[in-house]
Amino acid sequence: MAILLATQFDADDWTAWWPALQQALQGERLLRDRAEAVPGDPITIALVANPPNGALADLPDLRLVQSLWAGVDKLLADSTVPRDVPLARMVDPAMNEAMAETALWAVLSLHRDHFAYARAQRDRRWQPLSQRRADEVGVAVLGLGQMGRTCARRLARNGYPVVGWSSRAVEVDDVVTHAGAAALPQVLAQADIVVNLLPLTDETRGLFNAGTFALLRRGAAVVNLARGGHVVEADLLDALASGQLGHAVLDVFDTEPLPGTHPFWSHPAITLLPHVAAQTDPRSAAAIAARNVRALRDGRPFEHLVDRSRGY
Ligand code: NDP
Repeated sequence: MAILLATQFDADDWTAWWPALQQALQGERLLRDRAEAVPGDPITIALVANPPNGALADLPDLRLVQSLWAGVDKLLADSTVPRDVPLARMVDPAMNEAMAETALWAVLSLHRDHFAYARAQRDRRWQPLSQRRADEVGVAVLGLGQMGRTCARRLARNGYPVVGWSSRAVEVDDVVTHAGAAALPQVLAQADIVVNLLPLTDETRGLFNAGTFALLRRGAAVVNLARGGHVVEADLLDALASGQLGHAVLDVFDTEPLPGTHPFWSHPAITLLPHVAAQTDPRSAAAIAARNVRALRDGRPFEHLVDRSRGY
């Protein structure tokens, strides 16, 4: 009943994860490589973090795949991940709060023109800008799941009028919510800032395109904290060039790490982060993953299973 860790961890990652997993999974046999498996003790569980394609092929005794990351789009795109084995993803309140901090930082920075002031400082330009109240800055949060709900609530608590969007109707305190594709134009029309927290699926890929940008208020900002595949990069650059978009804060990219030659790096209206909006924290996440390991051992239902038909 061995547990395979299928990851692309570097030495620093292992330093953080290995003691946390050993502590959370005492009594379990943890394998850092499938070659460590021995006859009579098959691999029944895979704990995965961005595993290389094919890492879970040919594991006939596998009964649970537990992702240590929240997003599972890459796993679902890997045809060698067995379809009939339950796949659970990481849902950690600590990550939701980290994401809300990043969303709040981005929205506050946009609202109070901190990115413009940073540019002005670099140019030694003394240029006060007019100041808006928080209640004058409309924020749309796309995706009202674990992350989106937490961000929307945090932004609303900070005085922003927040409109949220999901596929199924949901209520979130102090947030006006809409559901379904038909409601998207209405949601975007109220936004000076749109925060993306959707999963990457066939339906959401490329959602941030010229048509979507045109629906936002002129000079609006995009904050993409979800996946690079949501954004049509050429359309984003065009919308920034035309002034339809005023700024973009991007944490995630089609190709990661972002190549050094990419135009986003030096664009004056783009602020970028290296996919750090909400990092999985081994101190809490290892214990959360261990709950599903124990559920399998005890014959209890798993938490946070991915709905493969929906893609998240
Ligand atoms: P959840 O699965 O909890 O929430 C997804 C939300 O998106 C739900 O509200 C869902 O609606 C909505 N949704 C999905 N498809 C559609 C659609 N076609 N139209 C409208 N709404 C849709 O995910 P999380 O909140 O946990 O995570 C969101 C994403 O954030 C992850 O998939 C990952 O890509 C990204 N992420 C980024 C990180 C970073 O550091 N940058 C860290 C962690 C996650 P409904 O519930 O009604 O189906």
